[in-house]
Amino acid sequence: MSKSYDLHSHSTASDGTLTPTQLVARAAEAGVDFLALTDHDDVSGIEEARMAAHQHGMTLIPGIELSVTWSHQTIHILGLNIKEHTPVLAEGIKRQHEFRRWRAEEIARRLAKKGIPGASEGAAAFANGPIISRTHFARFLVEQGKAASIREVFSKYLVRGKPGYVPGDWACLEEVLDWINVAGGQAVIAHPARYRLSSTKLRQLIAEFREQGGQGLEVVSGSHNRDECRYMAELSERFELYASMGSDYHGPGQAYAELGRLAEMPTMCVPIWDSQDWKERLAPQP
Ligand code: AMP
Ligand code: MN
Ligand code: MN
Ligand code: MN
Repeated sequence: MSKSYDLHSHSTASDGTLTPTQLVARAAEAGVDFLALTDHDDVSGIEEARMAAHQHGMTLIPGIELSVTWSHQTIHILGLNIKEHTPVLAEGIKRQHEFRRWRAEEIARRLAKKGIPGASEGAAAFANGPIISRTHFARFLVEQGKAASIREVFSKYLVRGKPGYVPGDWACLEEVLDWINVAGGQAVIAHPARYRLSSTKLRQLIAEFREQGGQGLEVVSGSHNRDECRYMAELSERFELYASMGSDYHGPGQAYAELGRLAEMPTMCVPIWDSQDWKERLAPQP
């Protein structure tokens, strides 16, 4: 039987609600054979996930989802099969954390001006790991009764043009691709349809990404509909990028899809797990 891959997921190390151990157990139950843990700008959950995966006879792919500022927008780049303790990557992560800390205070200041005090402590109370994400602010705002759902709270408070929005000042594409490459990983553009880029702009992103050493496009994503998936499959073929698939799971009842319940990889795509680099990284180390 063919193997089940889910190459995008979050734990409490960033904005997921399950610990790495709980996440891996759930993935194993869902029949996933290869799970990538890809916490936002962080790798601190990987060791625990790796041990849990070992117990379930599953393969844990060490990964990360790095935030990037590209053309005044925030884009997410996945690093798969990274050696998570690589110093260059660790330095990069430190910088991303610094911006996150500053941004969290700035979000809280902006919300306070709009009559919502205590958001910094409130969001921090929802975070278990080193990362403070907008998701933690969203959970706090829902708790405060500011909106009925996480989705609604994002559109009312946390997206561009809304009171709690702070523009990203993340690393640039070139830097992030360098961190991933030095860490021996493979870079994949996460959920490409979610940025709502024009087709010209998306092609420009993909071309730059490829030129700078990027290898994959997340064709099958928990946040892509069928048409978006087909379109990304075509782009992966046209730009000769490997195709990846991932749920972007954040925990029970959270965005986006359930673990291991993804559409099939379109047949025109070359899956990233068939690439030479993937096979080399997965081969037992001498
Ligand atoms: P951050 O990296 O802190 O800016 O937070 C980004 C995260 O917020 C994403 O990874 C999603 O988990 C979450 N997010 C962004 N937009 C939405 C939305 N409209 N509804 C639910 N979650 C969202
Ligand atoms: Mn997230
Ligand atoms: Mn993302
Ligand atoms: Mn994600």
